[in-house]
Amino acid sequence: MIDPGAYRATIGLEIHVALNTRSKMFCGCSTDFGAPPNTNVCPVCLGLPGSLPVTNSGAVNLGIIAARALGSQVRTRSHFERKNYHYPDLPKGYQISQYSAPLAVGGELVLDDVEGEGGRIGIIRVHLEEDAGKSTHSADKGSTLLDFNRCGVPLAEIVTEPHIQSPGQARRFLEELRALLRVVGVSEVRMEEGELRCDVNFNLVRCDEGEGPVRTEISEVKNLNSFRSVQRASEYELKRHVEAVSRGDVLEHETRHWDEERGVTYSARSKEMAHDYRYFPDPDLPPLVIDPGYADHLAGGMPEPPRAKRIRFADEFGLSRYDAAVLVADPPLADFFEETVSHGASARAAARWITGEVAAHLNASGAAISDVPASPAHLAELLELLEAEQISEKVAKRVWRDVFESGTMPRVIVERECLAKIDDPEELRDIVSAVIAENPDAAAEYSSGKDRAIGYLVGKVMEDTRGRADPRLVNDILRDMLRSGS
Ligand SMILES: [Zn+2]
Repeated sequence: MIDPGAYRATIGLEIHVALNTRSKMFCGCSTDFGAPPNTNVCPVCLGLPGSLPVTNSGAVNLGIIAARALGSQVRTRSHFERKNYHYPDLPKGYQISQYSAPLAVGGELVLDDVEGEGGRIGIIRVHLEEDAGKSTHSADKGSTLLDFNRCGVPLAEIVTEPHIQSPGQARRFLEELRALLRVVGVSEVRMEEGELRCDVNFNLVRCDEGEGPVRTEISEVKNLNSFRSVQRASEYELKRHVEAVSRGDVLEHETRHWDEERGVTYSARSKEMAHDYRYFPDPDLPPLVIDPGYADHLAGGMPEPPRAKRIRFADEFGLSRYDAAVLVADPPLADFFEETVSHGASARAAARWITGEVAAHLNASGAAISDVPASPAHLAELLELLEAEQISEKVAKRVWRDVFESGTMPRVIVERECLAKIDDPEELRDIVSAVIAENPDAAAEYSSGKDRAIGYLVGKVMEDTRGRADPRLVNDILRDMLRSGS
């Protein structure tokens, strides 16, 4: 019997990300998703004879930014090659890619240590290539429809070292990568539009490496298009490899597919694996010559990466790791937070409100923060009123609802609706004594020793004052009056 805990995964990922350009990699066709089939095509992306590709400099710039964001070294000279294979969705009969001289090499992505899934994941290379078309097989498998709109859409392929040690860490890596690429503007990474697709290279090692390698070979699971399926496919492979080792089986190096519905990977037909792509430099395209100063210039304009921002939010503003992570995961909210603080609000209060009330209102309305009339100045003023104890927390929430919809300044709402906190003990004593008179049963219960009754009475006072009373003060006055029997 073999202990599954004696083994762990080693996972490497190959990630294809659609670059955020308006036109394709080597022609002027639109990259719009969802256009009617075969409308965004031209002789170049259809590979018609006599057509010549021209490299999209915008796509190269985004590739350079992606590489620099990952700490990769952008090579001064790289070139495009033809990857030859025959498949119906590839009208040229080859895909333009980079193989022997990729755009960039090296680099890493650091994952924070959350639930033991932190680590430094090395990057082997970042290269540019074009996407293939899309095949749709009819339900009866009698025919296949081809849409070439996606042919030639620019992609960056990012290949990691096999440093990932668990299915959960693979998912964490992809989440962090997605956040990074979005922030630096390389890609929108819309998963539902297939803008990130991933191959998983899975292998098994003994935790105690002194005992020698485990006899399993890499299995490649191809073309996964959600973080969840990457994690599930890796979990499945981990189990499959451990079971094979415990039986004494030797697994072969193979390509596998993921069946989302059944939750299993299955072997691809063997001929699919026997690729010889016959790479050779594309004679129609000049090499990419990138001056290091130019790459520095592009990298210099890059926004702050998510991890650096999380660290800064924790250090500079004293936020918890959790609050920093929630804010940074949503860049417009993170900007809203920083602006609120720059208007003089306390950072912790601003973080608490933005991750709480502000986010809740946005979720409920489905609006983006940039589309609502509430601004950081509004929130800062509201927090100032709260801080100065001029309004209660309950009233503040009510005021925010109004601010969120109308864009009226909080102070104006508070004055207009007489919402200022009642903290005058005399005024409160009058209200409390009226509440006691109206609720003799609860008052009697408290007097007979049932402490819980006080909560009911405080609630009544808060109700009568529309949340304006100071609950601590009400509590004190109530106890005082009930005890003295007045
Ligand atoms: Zn085209």
